[in-house]
Amino acid sequence: MSWQAELSQIYRELDKCLSKLAPECKACGECCHFDSFGHVLYASSMEVNYLLEKAGPPKEPITKKVCPYLVNNLCTAREERTLGCRIFFCQKDWQSTSQDLYHKFFRRIKELSIKYQLEWYYTSMLSALGELKEEHVEK
Ligand code: SF4
Ligand code: SF4
Repeated sequence: MSWQAELSQIYRELDKCLSKLAPECKACGECCHFDSFGHVLYASSMEVNYLLEKAGPPKEPITKKVCPYLVNNLCTAREERTLGCRIFFCQKDWQSTSQDLYHKFFRRIKELSIKYQLEWYYTSMLSALGELKEEHVEK
């Protein structure tokens, strides 16, 4: 099995947990407008490499304001999106559940990077996209 297949399996397991918990989301896309929403999305380099490989480099320019995968307020990388994207919900009582889930699944993803000896750093998703995008454009 490849690291990509194992990461995909981890994401599927997380999605199953989330579908049982059923946090509310009206898919408005506001949380993907980082600037106006007032938050930063963090991700590991490994996950951003996966996103770039599977969804392709974003067509929209990378700015600090909005995720370049958001088009017409919809995520165009839904299957490949990172742990932080999957776990974030603006529901008021969601934070402690999301922290528990984040730590649990983050640990598994980090272990995967060690198993496959992959480069690992943790930064804002936009910074990682900017840094890693060129490597995927050249492929
Ligand atoms: S989590 Fe909240 S802000 Fe983000 S898309 Fe869903 S409803 Fe909109
Ligand atoms: S990848 Fe999708 S869910 Fe994640 S920030 Fe971008 S548009 Fe939003």
